[in-house]
Amino acid sequence: MNRNELSAILKENGICGAGGAGFPTYAKLDERVETVILNCAECEPLLKLHRQLLREHAYEILHGLSLIMEAVGAKEGIVAVKRSYTKTTAAVEAHIGSYPNMRLKYLREVYPAGDEVVLIYESTKKVVQPGGLPIDIGVAVFNVETVYNLYMAMEHKQPVTSKLVSVVAEVKEPKTVRVPLGVTVKEVVELAGGVTTPDPVYIMGGPMMGNLVPEYEVITKTSNAIIVLPREHYVVQRKTSSNKINMKRAAAACCQCEQCTNMCPRFLLGHPSHPHLFMRAATCKDVQDPQIFLDTMYCSSCGLCEMYACGQGLSPAKLIAEYKNGLKANGIKPERREAAPIVEDRQIKRVPVERLMKRMCLTHYNIPAPLHEELVECARVKIMMRQHIGAPAKPLVKAGDYVEAGQLIAEPADGLSLPVHASISGKVLEANDKFIMVDKALMDADKKRKGRANG
Ligand code: SF4
Ligand code: SF4
Repeated sequence: MNRNELSAILKENGICGAGGAGFPTYAKLDERVETVILNCAECEPLLKLHRQLLREHAYEILHGLSLIMEAVGAKEGIVAVKRSYTKTTAAVEAHIGSYPNMRLKYLREVYPAGDEVVLIYESTKKVVQPGGLPIDIGVAVFNVETVYNLYMAMEHKQPVTSKLVSVVAEVKEPKTVRVPLGVTVKEVVELAGGVTTPDPVYIMGGPMMGNLVPEYEVITKTSNAIIVLPREHYVVQRKTSSNKINMKRAAAACCQCEQCTNMCPRFLLGHPSHPHLFMRAATCKDVQDPQIFLDTMYCSSCGLCEMYACGQGLSPAKLIAEYKNGLKANGIKPERREAAPIVEDRQIKRVPVERLMKRMCLTHYNIPAPLHEELVECARVKIMMRQHIGAPAKPLVKAGDYVEAGQLIAEPADGLSLPVHASISGKVLEANDKFIMVDKALMDADKKRKGRANG
């Protein structure tokens, strides 16, 4: 299969990165790709999805990876898995021999092993330059569920209409479930037996990089996990802290110890990320060197400087994010720069996930979240038109229409965009440029009424 054919299938089936920003996958199929990496680092504490999916579907996922390699003409495929996921590595080892150009890369149990820049270095010893892209050095990275979705589209003509989500921490029965796109966080949490804390807070994604969401937030193609925590938990306190107060605390307590910079994964790979310099310049309102503020654009928002490194409990990551977002909102993009040499003792400065979990008071939540792959049924969904980076899709249906699960209900916009398919069968309650709401019970009731009228 050639690149254009695969690209058309990926686009037609609405496949984007099943996590993170959700970059449309077709746009990653570039002729310059020499190395394709399957990212099964799953480095955020408590996340349990990819290792289980790869363990159960190693054949399908490795086959999917080989299709990508063939389409872009890549010389090498790397399956990057943490050594500690022993059942997953065993499943990969059982199939990888069928692909002579593929190899298994064992990763260490450190955070953030799954950050693209870190993962590429660990797997290939190549450094993505600051402000650059993996494709500049001939690499493309795909996550496990994305490649599984590609396989399902290729072999079973199945568009993306559901999502695997791990539900963990303060729930009765942590588990990983497959739900239709558009169900609410509350419904998904109920599938794990409901909450076990009186005042729960929901984090969509990992505890390091995920965001707090309300219980009526809906699942999209990029929702990997829902972490339920008590409101008073350390992680919640850090995520809800006010930057006005964070700045005052930084001015009073930042001792310029440089620990935040010394542990920054991007700094360790030679990127111009110096959180301690930023803290000094921001708290002193010192703009003599504006580059320090522009360098916030090179931060990956991994959160390590804040959640782990700073002994004073300060918030460099959150403050940097505010500056970075301000620059982005004003159309400023990071310049491509030359990376400095890799920090010599980088190896020993990497942060073990176990220690990170301890620091974040998460260790007791680190229990299995078994995978249940059968699709959960639900009565109503709110399917978002924007589910990934790029332009939102445009609805093709209107209120009162009936749709079938898997039916195309929104077309891609111009530019980087993907179509959207119905995740359940039902009657369209509302369709606008933000979402399409589909209700199954209303369709069933209409059918019954029509049946009675006819007979
Ligand atoms: S680790 Fe904390 S105290 Fe030390 S330089 Fe960084 S922000 Fe300041
Ligand atoms: S969040 Fe902190 S540790 Fe992570 S990349 Fe940004 S500055 Fe570095």
